[in-house]
Formats: sequence, structure tokens, C-alpha cells
Amino acid sequence: TSSADITRLQALIRTIPDFPEPGIQFRDITALLADADGLTLALDAMAEGLAPGDVDAVVAVEARGFLLAGGLAHRLHCGVVPVRKPGKLPGPTLGVSYALEYGEDRLEMHQGALRPGARILVVDDLIATGGTALATGELVTRAGGHIVGFRFLIDLPELGGAAKLAARGWSPRALLS
Ligand code: AMP
Repeated sequence: TSSADITRLQALIRTIPDFPEPGIQFRDITALLADADGLTLALDAMAEGLAPGDVDAVVAVEARGFLLAGGLAHRLHCGVVPVRKPGKLPGPTLGVSYALEYGEDRLEMHQGALRPGARILVVDDLIATGGTALATGELVTRAGGHIVGFRFLIDLPELGGAAKLAARGWSPRALLS
């Protein structure tokens, strides 16, 4: 990915202060998703270093991860497995709870969604504290999957999430920070 491409992608992402709560600098990717060239560029860059056959499934995190997962899986010729908020998946699920700054959240995946040893790429739009990605990684591991890597559009490195994934032995990669 050239620096011109990165500049182009940066220009399609806006920062909305104090959304959804005071103090959060929300990175809005809707303009990037709506731009044919921008979306293609982003997905090509997120798939970089991986070829069809390297990954058995893309595991995508609700909700914005879903918007990137299909295109990425198409490039890698693999399927998509959704990780969702509690109560959204209709069948029996595996779940992992994780701490938020205030309170707790939980993510679920269908039981049997991964075949044993399946090579998994985890995808989301953004990594901040890493809580979501770590919980997703634990879910994949408990489901019998093997994590190949994590791909994000955006990393907020000052929040330490990517460092936590690396400390856990997982390799996160993001296009932009
Ligand atoms: P975290 O678990 O703290 O790493 O947060 C990552 C998850 O929350 C991702 O699914 C993001 O979509 C969302 N998120 C967290 N912070 C932001 C932000 N500043 N802008 C947009 N989305 C965010």
C-alpha cells in the first residue's frame, strides 16, 4: 500500500468528537464504505500478505466488521463466521464475557461454526483498548480455531489494544492509525 493510498483512505474517514459519549473520538468509516475505489483499496490492503488457501474463515465482529468481512473473504476464497452481541444468533452458542470501562459485554459465536484447527483471520473496523478483539480471539480459540492474524482498518495505538494482542502471541495489523 503506497503512502498516496493511505492518504486517500485517511481522507475518507472522519472523526466525530464526543460520539457516542463524551470523550470518545469516533472514527466514522461510512464515507469510505460508500466509495467504490476507497472500499476496493481498503479491502485489497487488508488482504495483503494473504492468498486464497491461507485462511479457512474470516471471523467478523458485529457490526462494522461485517461490512468488511464479505469482501475480504471473497478475496481469500473462504467463508465468513459472525461474532455477535448476546441473543442475536439463533442456534446454541459459545460466549465470552469481557470487562468494559464501565460494566461488562459479551460476544457469542455459533457452536460448531469452526472446524477443529480451522485457520482464522479476525476482522474488525477498528481496535481501541483491544477488549473486543481479545474476547473474539478467546472465542475462536475455545471454538477450536487457530488464529492466523487480526486485520483492522484503524488502530488507536495510544489505547494499547494492538500491544495486548501481540503480548498474547497474536499478530494484529491495521492500515491506518
Ligand atoms: P475496543 O474493544 O476498545 O478495542 O473497541 C473496539 C470496538 O469498538 C470495535 O468494534 C470498534 O468498532 C468500536 N470502537 C471503539 N472505539 C471506537 C472509535 N473511537 N471509533 C469507532 N469505533 C470504535
